Amino acid sequence: MNIGWIGTGIMGGAMCERLLEKGYSCTVFNRTRQRAEKLLQKGARWADSPREVAKTCDLVFTMVGYPHDVEEVILHPETGVLRGFRENHAAEKIVVDMTTSRPSLAVRIAEKAAAENVFSLDAPVSGGDIGARSGTLSIMVGGEPKIFEELMPIWNILGKTVVFQGKPGAGQHTKMVNQILIAGNMLGMCEALRYGQAVGLDLENVLSSVATGAAGSWSLSHLAPRILQNDFAPGFKIRHFLKDLKIALEEAHAVSLPLPTVQLAAQLYERLSQAGLAEEGTQALFLDGHNGTP
Ligand code: NAP
Repeated sequence: MNIGWIGTGIMGGAMCERLLEKGYSCTVFNRTRQRAEKLLQKGARWADSPREVAKTCDLVFTMVGYPHDVEEVILHPETGVLRGFRENHAAEKIVVDMTTSRPSLAVRIAEKAAAENVFSLDAPVSGGDIGARSGTLSIMVGGEPKIFEELMPIWNILGKTVVFQGKPGAGQHTKMVNQILIAGNMLGMCEALRYGQAVGLDLENVLSSVATGAAGSWSLSHLAPRILQNDFAPGFKIRHFLKDLKIALEEAHAVSLPLPTVQLAAQLYERLSQAGLAEEGTQALFLDGHNGTP
């Protein structure tokens, strides 16, 4: 099977590389071709647009940045995946969006895809750059259960926990639950480390006590050590987390639910973004108020 992969950044690049390593042939497209170079060296073929990818691939994954990118690569009337699928006469065609995106967009894509006899799944992930490289992501899937089952061999290469969540958009809603959890977690972790620092503790030592107790978390195990090494490279970019926090706030607003923790996280991350740290990893929240940031 020739798989199409659109978006070869931190996450998409590592995920597509795993598929290549397991023997799948892949055709790739990325806005900046240079960021696909490593995959091309490992045997992937290049296509000049999402449409060109979909002409020759019956199964196409997208892992881009923002909802507007998802819209462009899948729905663009001239260059999008659905346009390319019209020129592909395979019996079954599937598009899987793994970007963290708006649940309502996943619903719209599912409707437009169905109208063209194409199946679509929303399948955002959690587990970070580490999970993408090691194939241990948690994958949250919305869409058609039959297609979800059919793709099990691929899920098993990309992830460790793969759960079908329901109709189109349910994967993205589940990812919003995940991001709301992360928001609280990041605030708590950075506040706790700042406290430890302010009262003069050895933070390495502190981590060996708290990381494996009841306060343990993925962030504490994987991001706190990066903070202690002054490593604020992404990982997960602040500008992408801000996108997720805004989607969560919009979706919660639509069901009249206040999210005070997410609201505060959005304010603090916005401040970091304004201070020029939007391309840094989310662990740079630790710097808020440090090193010249507001
Ligand atoms: P990234 O490194 O910025 O990668 C995004 C890739 O998509 C880039 O290579 C970008 O091209 C490409 N792209 C964006 N818009 C495009 C378009 N319209 N057409 C073609 N290619 C396009 O970001 P990432 O960290 O991999 O994150 C990708 C998605 O996964 C985001 O929605 C993010 O929120 C989510 N996510 C990230 C993590 C994480 O830990 N990093 C974890 C879970 C989920 P360029 O090379 O030209 O920029």
